[in-house]
Amino acid sequence: MLDLMTVSMMIVLSSITLAVLTGFWGRAFWNEGGSQLTLGLVLFGAAYTCLSFLGSPLRPILFCLGYMAFAGGICACIACLHRFYRIPLTTAWLYVLPVCTGVVYALLLDQAHAVTRTRTVSGMLILHNLWMAQLLLRRRHPLGRGEWMFMAGVVLLTSALLLRIFSPQFSLSTLAPSNSSSSALLVSYAILFIALHLKAIGFLMMAQARADQQLLRFASEDSLTGLPNRRTVMQALQQALDQHAKQPQNLAVLLMDIDHFKRVNDQCGHPMGDQVLAALGQILRQQLRPLSVAGRYGGEEFIVVCPDTTAEQAVQLANRLCDEARNQLRASHASRSWPVTISVGISTMAATDSPIPSSDALLDQADQALYQAKHAGRDQVCLFGAQPCADDSDSLDFVNLGLGTLRFPERFVRKQSDNPVEK
Ligand code: GH3
Ligand code: MG
Ligand code: MG
Repeated sequence: MLDLMTVSMMIVLSSITLAVLTGFWGRAFWNEGGSQLTLGLVLFGAAYTCLSFLGSPLRPILFCLGYMAFAGGICACIACLHRFYRIPLTTAWLYVLPVCTGVVYALLLDQAHAVTRTRTVSGMLILHNLWMAQLLLRRRHPLGRGEWMFMAGVVLLTSALLLRIFSPQFSLSTLAPSNSSSSALLVSYAILFIALHLKAIGFLMMAQARADQQLLRFASEDSLTGLPNRRTVMQALQQALDQHAKQPQNLAVLLMDIDHFKRVNDQCGHPMGDQVLAALGQILRQQLRPLSVAGRYGGEEFIVVCPDTTAEQAVQLANRLCDEARNQLRASHASRSWPVTISVGISTMAATDSPIPSSDALLDQADQALYQAKHAGRDQVCLFGAQPCADDSDSLDFVNLGLGTLRFPERFVRKQSDNPVEK
């Protein structure tokens, strides 16, 4: 039969092992709550070291210190979650529980008050466990596996404390020094033992999951604009084409390029160029339907994949983006300031198209249309395969690629802007 000393020592050893584990394996998360969790585990270890001296004449003092360390461990776990979720915390609150635990022990030291003492301390510990639970639950996202594990640890610890409130024989404080193999206490210790592991491993899983997510974001996102990067947007285009094979639908690809961007950099400096890029990213995020995917293709070129979009709709969208860019993007240097414009080339695929073009072919067509738009004077939209407008003199420069029949009289060719760098 196991005795309490053995089980206490098991808890001490596993607390220390888990503290070393979180300290080493989780050192990448040291500043994200790892240090607080490690401290918490060390405090749990210290608590059970003190609580294992059942028959010692110093038992009251050691028990008082033990429970204070235990309360400190719980507070360190709360600090760990606050740090992990970056929720501000008034540190002074963390000292309330250990201090109150010490005071309750000092005031109700004699064995006659053991039950009251146990209930009071357990009640305070439960309140702090609820604090921990609400930190886990207040996130809007569904809980991850690590968070569920941490939560399971919190629930187990709370149930062990509830047991102590309703049946004080589950508490060490009410135990006679001679009785070192109480099965009720062994059950309560076993629960605490498991809860400790669940919390430590749960935290490491939470931190690892967040690091994986960040890595995925770095690999798929453009850091300057916050838009998907080239690889991600090309995947979106391939997915749209795969979807077309299963369920035919229209598709449009918009390739856009900032006009005379080199001059923005040269005359206003690279930070201003970066600002313009980030602002265009913001315009794209605001203007697009959730179904469409916009990404940075490279340098000052952007690509938008628009599923379920006809050629007419794509031209409308591109014209709107040109308007927004001209109205919102400005380059300024000293007393000079001018609007920054974009040119857009569009390629489309109709739901009835067969065979399906490759993503490279669609991009190549959009690139040719973009070249047309640049060639025609910039700040305009060009659809691959569309006829230029016969009644618009500016459009005469357009090359008719001879593949389409669409005509877009309305601003298909746009007047040149008042961009001073173009004059
Ligand atoms: P066009 O109207 O023909 O497109 O002319 P352009 O000047 O925009 O084209 P060009 O290809 O000559 O210049 C693109 C410039 O974009 C050159 C490069 O220094 C700049 N650039 C590329 N990436 C970045 C970036 O991340 N930040 C900044 N500030 N500039 C960038
Ligand atoms: Mg370019
Ligand atoms: Mg450019």
